Amino acid sequence: MRAVDIITKKRDGGTLSREEITFLIRGFVSEEIPNYQLSAWAMAVFFNGMTPQETAALTEVMLKSGNVIDLSGINGPFVDKHSTGGVGDKTSLILAPLIASLGIRVPMMSGRALGHTGGTLDKLESIPGYRTSLSVADFREFIQKDGFAMTGQTREIVPADRLLYALRDVTGTVESIPLITASILSKKAAEGTEGLVLDVKYGTGAFMKDAGLAEALAKSLVDTGTALGLNVKALLTDMNEPLGYKVGNFLEVEECLDCLEPSYLEKHNKKAMPDSDGYNSDLSAELMEITLDLAAAMTVLGGKAADSVEGRKLCEEALKSGKPMELFLQNVKSQGGNPDELQRMRNNFRSPIKAEIFAAKDGFISGIDALKTGKASVLLGVGRNKSEDEVSPQAGVEFHVLSGSKVKAGEKIMSVWARDEAGMNAALPELEDAVSYSNKAPEPRKLVLKEIP
Ligand code: URA
Repeated sequence: MRAVDIITKKRDGGTLSREEITFLIRGFVSEEIPNYQLSAWAMAVFFNGMTPQETAALTEVMLKSGNVIDLSGINGPFVDKHSTGGVGDKTSLILAPLIASLGIRVPMMSGRALGHTGGTLDKLESIPGYRTSLSVADFREFIQKDGFAMTGQTREIVPADRLLYALRDVTGTVESIPLITASILSKKAAEGTEGLVLDVKYGTGAFMKDAGLAEALAKSLVDTGTALGLNVKALLTDMNEPLGYKVGNFLEVEECLDCLEPSYLEKHNKKAMPDSDGYNSDLSAELMEITLDLAAAMTVLGGKAADSVEGRKLCEEALKSGKPMELFLQNVKSQGGNPDELQRMRNNFRSPIKAEIFAAKDGFISGIDALKTGKASVLLGVGRNKSEDEVSPQAGVEFHVLSGSKVKAGEKIMSVWARDEAGMNAALPELEDAVSYSNKAPEPRKLVLKEIP
């Protein structure tokens, strides 16, 4: 077989056999097939798609590119969650300790920033010392001890996804249903989970811009995951606006710590919209609403709740108990960070290159575009332009108001931190352009559109 023949076959709309997919992915991992050929193939898949059989074969071949983690000997149940990617999408950092506090183990294998979206691993690595490349022995030990562990793909575990993910990020080949399906499920099947809740995002800041495409992705994920023996549930959630009020690696860790505080739920605004006078007392309201819906689905898959109403109640009680915060800090220590130092860094670990953005007019904020915010955050240093780029832990955006807030012209609406001046200059117009205004309060958005199945 020759890689070029497989590329041209897919380019011309053909269907690849399992043998052809195996040849290509194995050759890529062993470095016999170069990046440029894999990039051309990924672009052909982007344009021509894959059949469900090809998608299942690609997922299995990627899964078998490395070892599968064996969690036997540790008491389950094991349930994880994965998002298809968004801006300010930080739910994993709250969910893992929250679900672990309820006696469900969370073996979490995550990714880095991809395109304009953030990555859980980059966020965690903004905590000094935190290691995201765990050995299997450490992964098992931390799950046993803390109830959860968070790691990335390694040379041993799904190396095919580690390499292909980084290549897709910089070759315009992320937004593909079969490639996203294989990427997510090869990781999830390798980490040893039994149950999986998928947060499938739609909207400007998602890889699937419209809800119909996101639903097709959700179905591909549910069908392929079920065929692999996983118990899968998908929630279709809105990603037209950034989730929560902080976007950036350490900034997002901070917002999660705030949501894990036992007192947080006292101020939580379940409507997830400002009051009628436009005052917003809870800038993390949407983040927490989506987090609690995902958490409830995880408790049902883990057999701790009969339905999502009961599951949500359990999660709210757990958060108020303070146990999830305790487990998060315990995990920081296990994975190499210093919890006391982390607490000291809250609200002051920022790049010195800072700017502020002010409201352009009187009225209501009617929208904050997630894609423009995500692209601006890459310019600030939160994500990567080339696979070798380092991300900045200290760059990002803090919104002082959100959609539905009433503002006066000249009022401060955003604080912005950049890795360098050039990034700041490029990002500021994009961020100003992300905000739209209206004379009356916008209608609330539906945060969770659908559940599948
Ligand atoms: N998350 C992943 O793990 N892979 C993708 O391709 C997209 C989102």
